[in-house]
Amino acid sequence: MSLTEEIKKRRTFAIIAHPDAGKTTLTEKLLLFGGAIQTAGAVKSNKIDTATKSDWMEIEKQRGISVATSVMGFEYKDIKINLLDTPGHQDFAEDTYRTLTAVDSVIMVIDCVKGVEIQTEKLMEVCRMRNTPVICFINKLDREGRDPYDLLDEVEEKLNIKVRPLSWPIGMGKGFKGVYNLYEKKLNLFTPSQRKLSDDRQVFENLDDPELDSLIGPNNANQLREDVDLIEGVYPEFDVNDYLEGKIAPVFFGSAVNNFGVNEMLDTFIKIAPGPKSRETDLREVKPEEKKFSGFVFKIHANMDPNHRNRIAFLRICSGTFERNKPYNHVRGPKPLRFSNVTQFMAQDKEIIDEAFPGDIVGLYDTGNLKIGDTLTEGENMVFTGIPSFSPEIFREVINKDAMKTKQLEKGLKQLMEEGVAQLFTFEMGQRKVVGTVGQLQFEVIQFRLKNEYNATVEFHPMNLYKACWISSADKKQLDEFVRSKNRYIARDKDDKLVFMAESKSWLQMVQDNYPEIEFHFTSEF
Ligand code: GDP
Repeated sequence: MSLTEEIKKRRTFAIIAHPDAGKTTLTEKLLLFGGAIQTAGAVKSNKIDTATKSDWMEIEKQRGISVATSVMGFEYKDIKINLLDTPGHQDFAEDTYRTLTAVDSVIMVIDCVKGVEIQTEKLMEVCRMRNTPVICFINKLDREGRDPYDLLDEVEEKLNIKVRPLSWPIGMGKGFKGVYNLYEKKLNLFTPSQRKLSDDRQVFENLDDPELDSLIGPNNANQLREDVDLIEGVYPEFDVNDYLEGKIAPVFFGSAVNNFGVNEMLDTFIKIAPGPKSRETDLREVKPEEKKFSGFVFKIHANMDPNHRNRIAFLRICSGTFERNKPYNHVRGPKPLRFSNVTQFMAQDKEIIDEAFPGDIVGLYDTGNLKIGDTLTEGENMVFTGIPSFSPEIFREVINKDAMKTKQLEKGLKQLMEEGVAQLFTFEMGQRKVVGTVGQLQFEVIQFRLKNEYNATVEFHPMNLYKACWISSADKKQLDEFVRSKNRYIARDKDDKLVFMAESKSWLQMVQDNYPEIEFHFTSEF
């Protein structure tokens, strides 16, 4: 197969959702359709049970599960689908943000009872930064949920994206009868079943057909006719280009656990979802069809066993053909790297492969050369952009409890930060080290891993910080002056970039007002 054909065949995406909306269940059904698994229950949730969430054994288990399901590849109707898993626990949100840089589109699951939840809003913001196309799946229609019109309004309002229903529910909860596919004008009747794989669908070009009344009852039939009239009147015709530009989200209704509405969404997904897209580097845009290979590392998974400090780096291939054992330019590093152990993930199996194509994700065994955001190329010294760090939400000062192990601590911190476990900021004054995370859990992970893998003992002391803002200015003198006058609050990030550590929202606002020439950024890339 030619490179162009390989590219055309691929769809790389992630499912995002607030915990409990049904991401794991939907993932499993998609894998069933793809023939990648045979039985329901084969996909383990990557959630950490809240009751045991401060137990590091649980964290380790979670890490074990998440590597197995990090990428799930399967074929469906001749399309090679790469589904990237995102951590279910919100403390690992930063991991999810980075995973979203490696996909070309997302499916967003929303619980019809709870509507749009907070984690969904945050994830949508990240999608918007890159105009990632979004398909919405409104789940759990077998339960008494909210009114579908209200749900659509809420999605538009809270997620700040226009919607276009492509299917419409008939009843809900106990009275749930099925969905009408507005795109294909087909009726799909609901029978609760966790096993059923294909849906029998009835085509209704004309909803006035009296057959509809006998199938779903005259009340439901009339309601559906009214709804469809209204929707077709209110919402403009679905334009796939608007979806591809991230301007409009097509919406499907269904019930993942009953495998209802999933097949329809998947069929539409493979028709409309984008294949591997061009990507920006600091020098130029890279097209997937380019002959020469390029890619970037978006995730690193370390081995918890201190005797085997190897790790798996997840590489997204952006252009050309990636080949095993071929030396590639490690743009940030001192020497070319070659990989003999290249893994691809087909559902639950890992297999060693010889080549991979744009859109694919491969796992590279690494002994500590790679870090998150690294670019590999077949020569050119360019770096993929758009893999920013986000300002953390919780800050703690690192206190070394064993002065004899300072070197181990430094090394451990550096490596954990390279894996993206958390972010390290070093204050200019006094060189105090501050770890920033998006969740409590990471501090426990870091503390445990520093002890277990590096034999370093730390404590974390709370710090009264609101945000870390990367600062810049067109006027270098002003920036120098700012850094001088605010030196108690100035730190450096892992790349030595200047960061302003703001103590509170109101104070940050005041400083911003007082220094209009200084730009404050909440992500490391601007
Ligand atoms: P995740 O946290 O988003 O991965 O959510 P899960 O897939 O683990 O689902 C959370 C819970 O919702 C589980 O108990 C599922 O069985 C249940 N669930 C998923 N889909 C449906 C559905 O369509 N209807 C109902 N009633 N429950 C569902």
